[in-house]
Amino acid sequence: MSALPVSPPPAARYLPPSIAGDYTELTPKQTELLAIAARLGREKFAPRAQQIDRDAVFPFENYADLREAGLLGICVPEEHGGWGADFATYVMTAAEIGRHCGATALTLNMHVSSTMWTGFIADDLDMTPEQRANHEAHRKVHYERVVKQGKVYSQPFSEGGAAAAGKAPFGTLARKVEGGYIVNGKKIFASLAGAADYYGILCTLDKPGATQRDSLYLAVDKNGEGVSVTGDWDPLGMRGTVSRTLIFKDVFVPEIERLIPEGLYAQAALRWPHMFATLSPTYMGICQAAYDFTVQYLRGEVPGTPPVKRRMYPTKQIAVAEMKVRLEQTRAIFLQNARAARVDPSKEIRLGLYAAHYTIMENANEICRLAVRTCGGQSMLKTLPLERMYRDSRCGSLMLPWTAELCIDRLGRECLYEAGEQDEQAVL
Ligand SMILES: Cc1cc2nc3c(=O)[nH]c(=O)nc-3n(C[C@H](O)[C@H](O)[C@H](O)COP(=O)(O)OP(=O)(O)OC[C@H]3O[C@@H](n4cnc5c(N)ncnc54)[C@H](O)[C@@H]3O)c2cc1C
Repeated sequence: MSALPVSPPPAARYLPPSIAGDYTELTPKQTELLAIAARLGREKFAPRAQQIDRDAVFPFENYADLREAGLLGICVPEEHGGWGADFATYVMTAAEIGRHCGATALTLNMHVSSTMWTGFIADDLDMTPEQRANHEAHRKVHYERVVKQGKVYSQPFSEGGAAAAGKAPFGTLARKVEGGYIVNGKKIFASLAGAADYYGILCTLDKPGATQRDSLYLAVDKNGEGVSVTGDWDPLGMRGTVSRTLIFKDVFVPEIERLIPEGLYAQAALRWPHMFATLSPTYMGICQAAYDFTVQYLRGEVPGTPPVKRRMYPTKQIAVAEMKVRLEQTRAIFLQNARAARVDPSKEIRLGLYAAHYTIMENANEICRLAVRTCGGQSMLKTLPLERMYRDSRCGSLMLPWTAELCIDRLGRECLYEAGEQDEQAVL
């Protein structure tokens, strides 16, 4: 008589599904990138996530892996040596990474945005032939740094005032001088502070009467004279982002470091609103991860824990069903929004975008909350990933320019008013 198997055969275990739901709708490039992200996430990022979170240190080892896999160039156009991923392809890949390490996905987003804004987004903007030629020359330099030298860019725009919410010009100023700009200012919550090779800052061209239309997007060398990192970093969640404060004091930035032509950032912000929605994929990943953890935990399949099953209690089954409903609602709106991204979206697409961003950010925290409540006390020990996901998930809806509050603010206003419409007299 043959011995009984000690553990169930692999097929009987819970197999976490693709972040994209159904693989049949994916392009070959999407399938390939998702497979790479899933492998790196499972084998490298997840095992390192606890220490990165505990020590609030930047995930340098994960970046070495991302570099080796070519993922730093995921949105660099193919003709410049990158993967040439479009919006949907990138956000699905980012969500897969976020499933395993939130801080890695969120910081990668800051880097990738610099290549996306200068890449397919800039391609869709109106430029004069001179601006286009100038942009081509500039981005060639930046893409070579990313693809050939593995350089990393960050994206500090927050300053603590109204600028990051899109309500005022950036307080960081760039004065035009021979061969470039002199930059002065301060950026708070600058993820990858001290870790990125270049800080892709948003600032305002220093001239009388400057408005938001005079925003500039410049890459500042982290070792440039006058650049410093200050402040400590000991936050609730997303601790591996190391989002400290950057100070720029009379920093000379050569003209070639201008990432898009002068005046074009404002056009991009107006015509390509999905450019601000790249923070939420990380949190889509957390939604899926918290659900996966719960199913594995209740089935007694979480590695390193006793194989105790808790799935037979009706209350657990109801709770998992509620989580699954919320997860599928989140995934549906995530994928729909990802595939709808384009220049000059219709009003319905724009409203759907705010709704998607809001839903993903809020549901990440809600699904984590349900996961902790459902799995119980032992599940929130720091040796397990759930309590980190719970803390990380809280950060999403706080992130400008589209915090949960500001999404609601925009949605309410834009649902009730058409462009340029005003009330004849104040109601209140
Ligand atoms: C983990 C993490 C990483 C981050 N990384 C980066 C980064 O790499 N780059 C970067 O630029 N920023 C980054 N941020 C910063 C983030 O985008 C916000 O700028 C930051 O959280 C602002 O916090 P605050 O409390 O100063 O916001 P405040 O400006 O004080 O706003 C508080 C709240 O008030 C609301 N609010 C703000 N302005 C308005 C307004 N005009 N009208 C109505 N409501 C408003 C918003 O809902 C906001 O959440 C990061 C934040 C976190 C948590």
